[in-house]
Amino acid sequence: MAHTVFPERLQARLDPITVDEKVKEAKAALLKHIKRSIYIYRVDCGGCNGCEIEIFGTITPIFDTERFGIKNMASPRHADILVYTGAVTRAMRLPALRAYEGAPDPKLVVSYGACGCTGGIFHDNYCVWGGTDKLIPVDIYIPGCPPSPAQTIYGFAMALGILGQRLHETHLHQAEGEQAPLLHNHLPYKMKVELEREARILSGYRYGRELVNRFMDTLDAPDGDVLGSVNRLITNEDDPRKVEVFSELKDILEKKVVGMR
Ligand code: SF4
Repeated sequence: MAHTVFPERLQARLDPITVDEKVKEAKAALLKHIKRSIYIYRVDCGGCNGCEIEIFGTITPIFDTERFGIKNMASPRHADILVYTGAVTRAMRLPALRAYEGAPDPKLVVSYGACGCTGGIFHDNYCVWGGTDKLIPVDIYIPGCPPSPAQTIYGFAMALGILGQRLHETHLHQAEGEQAPLLHNHLPYKMKVELEREARILSGYRYGRELVNRFMDTLDAPDGDVLGSVNRLITNEDDPRKVEVFSELKDILEKKVVGMR
């Protein structure tokens, strides 16, 4: 250390930086998803500016999305992703459309914040048309009022997955007579519909479908003990939210199909 006349206790000492294992894992997962740099362009269609503050919190030091190659651009002509914030107002309709037309293909549209997704607290204002999807097709919704920087980074990572698909797009054509295989074909149609509907109400479209597929897989018990198989699914599940969903689906099964309740 350099010589100094000041006593040791007054010397500045930087604390060694230790990074939590979970943080390391999350960063590795993000870097796995994000394989190329992308440029984003923001279009504020009429919000309260809260979303802008969070976006700037995300792209500036601390959260610093530039380390993942996500950069904010001053022109839609250079943008890969257009981020629409705020409810679509009458005055911003044309500028928002111009930004969309100005961005080169393949481009993605992110609807940001509760206002961008649905119109939010301004949805019934006289000059508001609703969310971004009232105006242009939206690829990713990042909900929240406003979304946190972590949610924002996650949304961009999701957007990058879709952008990658668009860049390597292939067009599939259905051959004559070709039919997609139906899942769980052995189950009665009405029962499937009822279970799927309940799971989607409880967990949303995507996760609801995953959970109900897992549930319906267990109904195909090789030993014929359907309820035993469902009970095993519930007791072996660690996540209490999934246990709740599986239990509700089991109730439906017992009430409507087996007739035990
Ligand atoms: S979602 Fe919330 S923070 Fe974002 S613009 Fe709307 S009111 Fe403001």
